[in-house]
Amino acid sequence: MMKVAFLDRDGTINRDYPDDIWIRIQDPEILPGAIHGMKYLKEKGYEIIIVTNQYIIGEGIISIEQYHEFNRKLLALLIENDISILDVFYCPHARDEQCNCCKPRNGLIKQAIRKYPEINLKESFMCGDSLSDMKCAESVGLNFWGIGIGKQRISDLSDLCNLI
Ligand SMILES: [Mg+2]
Ligand SMILES: [Zn+2]
Repeated sequence: MMKVAFLDRDGTINRDYPDDIWIRIQDPEILPGAIHGMKYLKEKGYEIIIVTNQYIIGEGIISIEQYHEFNRKLLALLIENDISILDVFYCPHARDEQCNCCKPRNGLIKQAIRKYPEINLKESFMCGDSLSDMKCAESVGLNFWGIGIGKQRISDLSDLCNLI
């Protein structure tokens, strides 16, 4: 069985911006504590899967190429720090498309389970900085740690070192 840390991307691993600012963002800015926290999770035997809403693709703010380029740079930065990410699942749909993968809906988690049936949800958890992350986690019974939100509130990923 595999235990997974399902991590939101923007505002959890790297800095987030207002939607219209993303058009000119080229390089990820890793948030304080993120490297330390993710290293700890890997040492504890968690695989890391990123689940990220990217409705700014579907709504025409960034191109799919821009998304992939940013993501490639982010994963490269993490690899430089010896942090390998098992996979990234993203929702590219506009918010009015009624897809099943835009968090708070849980399609991204379902996609991950379909691809990795050995995932043990009971041993896994999710961490994110928005209520949509929290609601997504709750809908599949995943323990949730909120960055600045929710009942299990942390200030950044390094706080998980004391909690998990
Ligand atoms: Mg976020
Ligand atoms: Zn979607």
